[in-house]
Amino acid sequence: MSGSFYLDINNGDGSVIDLSNPHSLNAVSTDTDEMKISVLASGSTGNTTYIETPTHKVLVDAGLSGKKINELMHQIGRDLNDVDSLFVTHEHTDHSKSVGVLARKYGINVYANEKTWDAISGKVGKIPLDQKFDLEAGEIQSMGDLDVQSFPVSHDAVDPQFYELHSNGKSFVILTDTGYVSERMAGVIKNADAYLFECNHDMEMLRMGGYPWPLKQRILSDTGHLSNEDGANALMQVLGNRTKRIFLGHLSKENNMKTLAHLTVASMMEEHDFGVEHDFRILDTDPDSATNLMTL
Ligand SMILES: [Zn+2]
Ligand SMILES: [Zn+2]
Repeated sequence: MSGSFYLDINNGDGSVIDLSNPHSLNAVSTDTDEMKISVLASGSTGNTTYIETPTHKVLVDAGLSGKKINELMHQIGRDLNDVDSLFVTHEHTDHSKSVGVLARKYGINVYANEKTWDAISGKVGKIPLDQKFDLEAGEIQSMGDLDVQSFPVSHDAVDPQFYELHSNGKSFVILTDTGYVSERMAGVIKNADAYLFECNHDMEMLRMGGYPWPLKQRILSDTGHLSNEDGANALMQVLGNRTKRIFLGHLSKENNMKTLAHLTVASMMEEHDFGVEHDFRILDTDPDSATNLMTL
């Protein structure tokens, strides 16, 4: 602890506004030993999530332009120049769009598995070799006060993996872009303090909507995406007494709505006697605006 003054204000929706640094619009405060998170953008149009500890500022995925990501960072009083590492989940553009820009323009180190590197190398341009790191599914990247654990998922990409981030006894799981949640995956991600979890589509909206049948089949398949119902069922398997916050993410623009995803998950959990809004909160994410920076 630096001994400097800090204060978190709970703004009533479970999110926390960080007032720890009077200059926080252009500087990064590091005077708390806790992990802080913000889902900067989530949805089928682009994904990126920010996590900070006292000594690291990292992103998971960079599925929007560098400019847009920096605008989102500014919404939470942070700047891309302060980010040290980026963890990429898979090669789809909504997760990898600005990997090259973030490495070259902002000097950010990038972690992905070898097959994902091969898949993105053609489209993200040159990445300096000393900023390019291999992290295979099942491995843990330990970097001082932050451990990033990768785990494989079932999705139509070359070697998709998602991440559980651990710091100072707290953990945050990011899991979107998977056709189903296996027992094994569930075992890895049990009882985290917070989750960003996929609720891609409402089954009826997808069935009735205008997508061509092959695309509908792809989304519904075991290597596609989790529906609102799938997300709720998987969450009920994995959450535990530590779990305080669940972000619903990666909503399809065409086949879902925030209110529908939220209501579906909340009501399914309530039916199964989970303490929604008592033991934990369900929070929405947005494709265009960041969730408040929140201390876990
Ligand atoms: Zn995606
Ligand atoms: Zn994907």
